[in-house]
Amino acid sequence: MTKGNIGVTSNNIFPVIKKFLYSDHEIFLRELISNAVDATQKLKTLSSVGEAKGDLGDLRVRVTIDKKKKTLTVSDHGVGMTADEVDRYINQIAFSGAEEFVNKYKDKAEAIIGHFGLGFYSAFMVSDKVEIFSQSYLPDTKAVHWSCSGDPEFTMEDTLKAERGTDIVLHINEEFAQYLEDATVEGLLRKYCKFLPVEIAFGKKKEWKDGKEVELDEENIINDINPAWTRKPADLKEEDYKNFYHELYPNQFDEPLFHIHLNVDYPFHLTGILYFPKIKNNLDIHRNKIQLYCNQVFVTDEVENIVPEYLTLLHGVIDSPDIPLNVSRSYLQSDNNVKKISSHITKKVADKLAEMYRNDREDFCSKWDDIKLFIQFGMLSDEKFYDRAISFALLKNLSGEYFTLDEYKAKVKDSQTDKDGNLVLLYAQNADASYTYIERAKAKGYDVLLMDGELDVHAMSQLEQKAELASSDNKETSPKSLRFVRVDSDVIENIIRKEDTAKDSYSDEQKEGVRKAFEPFLPNAQQYFVSFEAAAADALPVFLTQNEFMRRMKEMSAHQQGMSFYGQMPDQYNLVINTSHPLIQDLFSKLTESQVEEPAPAKDAASDSSEASESSNSSPKETVLKTIYTLSGEEERLKQLIDIALLASGKLTGEPLAKFVSRSVDLLA
Ligand code: ADP
Repeated sequence: MTKGNIGVTSNNIFPVIKKFLYSDHEIFLRELISNAVDATQKLKTLSSVGEAKGDLGDLRVRVTIDKKKKTLTVSDHGVGMTADEVDRYINQIAFSGAEEFVNKYKDKAEAIIGHFGLGFYSAFMVSDKVEIFSQSYLPDTKAVHWSCSGDPEFTMEDTLKAERGTDIVLHINEEFAQYLEDATVEGLLRKYCKFLPVEIAFGKKKEWKDGKEVELDEENIINDINPAWTRKPADLKEEDYKNFYHELYPNQFDEPLFHIHLNVDYPFHLTGILYFPKIKNNLDIHRNKIQLYCNQVFVTDEVENIVPEYLTLLHGVIDSPDIPLNVSRSYLQSDNNVKKISSHITKKVADKLAEMYRNDREDFCSKWDDIKLFIQFGMLSDEKFYDRAISFALLKNLSGEYFTLDEYKAKVKDSQTDKDGNLVLLYAQNADASYTYIERAKAKGYDVLLMDGELDVHAMSQLEQKAELASSDNKETSPKSLRFVRVDSDVIENIIRKEDTAKDSYSDEQKEGVRKAFEPFLPNAQQYFVSFEAAAADALPVFLTQNEFMRRMKEMSAHQQGMSFYGQMPDQYNLVINTSHPLIQDLFSKLTESQVEEPAPAKDAASDSSEASESSNSSPKETVLKTIYTLSGEEERLKQLIDIALLASGKLTGEPLAKFVSRSVDLLA
């Protein structure tokens, strides 16, 4: 029997493992099983080149728990190790600069383990003692038994082992008794080992029979050794991709919309399948669904920094041995391979979408509503993706027709270009609430888009900015500007000004009189402002509009930091009084004119009226006569008009609505 100290150059490895590698201790199982799988794969390779002789026999890796002995064992029938190899691979651990590194990555067990190739030693995170029993595949070699109790001292001796391969026996520390529970261990195996290329057996299969669970003879195999992404696309049917999706996400009941099979050999290795889920209006619930594997070993489902943010909305798997996993997350972004991988995936996704659009536009349109959010997110966050997606990104109008931006511009160019040469695209966010406004726009022969998505406001601003850039590049062919304007943001005649708009003949004083008459009945003086427009005679007498810029700023602030100033502002509306409407003209005719004395405006030396400067000498308390207009006896009509405006915009609810209803009944009496 040999005794010795583990060859750690600078410092003892065990305190390091115990002290720092605490948070991620469950990965010990992944590490040991990865080693077992590697040893098995090596044997298969050696056999295929004739270096390992004979029938390889049973190659399953088995995980067993002995509750009495408090051990967890990982057994394989792989290449095994000779005493020499144990000495070389297990005892001599180059561990220079350990402390420095460990301090830097204290809470990143993964990084430490990866960095030092300490897979095997992670077993000490949860064990008081670890034993190795190994029989090499090489003929005429003795089996070896290695044992170490978590201090640098180990023992090594010859032993007898009937079968080729390695058993790693962990004497689980009391604190980690959960690793002696079947459910915990099975959970971990399913998390990390679900798609390993060698069968992993844990206990026996169970079945419900006559109301109780019975054990079958058959072993319980944890993994699918040929997951879809490792197979050739030509060998897979649509059904296989769907089944694999459900294998990946057993709790996901929606079917994916479509998939992309990734397969790259050069200049890096990458395989995987990405699925497009139906993306509803809540971006966050879709995040962190892509699973990252390294040679079929599960690594993480947090793929930020590895793929662009908008791609984290997709589901599926990426498997690449070329993603450095033993570095800090923030470093990943600057890694060259990661950059290449990320831009490759972006390109593939854009290609696939473009191809779908080209090959079957109708089908693409039918999927649009479900992928729109993803595509807009991509266009907003990645210039390159924008450049490619602009040719298949769609706009949908209220009749449910789809257009690319260019197609749509061509459609409405003749009717919706204003007198200054600006192209105005009209939209609604809620077709019901804006019904009256939409009707007025349609009556003018205009088309209205539906922009009810979570990112539509941002997407519209982006299209406007891009159009501005394009028009400054090419003044001849582009319209002066492209603007999206919500149909209810102003009188339609103002949104798309054709010739000089109609004017009314009322004086400012008269309008002031009408304004004062309305104001006491407004729901809220901070939110509603009275204004006058000579709109069409058949438009509503009074209606609400909401400034496009302010409303958009407010909506955009919901997603953007640093814009909370806008977010905190109350919604503001104009109560527009339509001076072309007979009812309003009638109100104007009912104004009573009177003269009031008002203090004269203060005069200064610069006043150019010689008359005034003379009189200022004679009398210090000067007054002038001012004409004012008042409206009385019309309270019920004013209230009714305001309520009609609120009602037409879907803003009349609760008590005011009830009052409106009973007032309307009274009016009929
Ligand atoms: P890594 O796997 O990163 O090289 P480990 O500490 O996990 O680091 O293992 C060190 C070495 O010990 C492996 O490279 C392999 O040669 C050997 N080894 C570990 N486990 C086994 C096993 N189950 N069968 C055969 N060899 C093994």
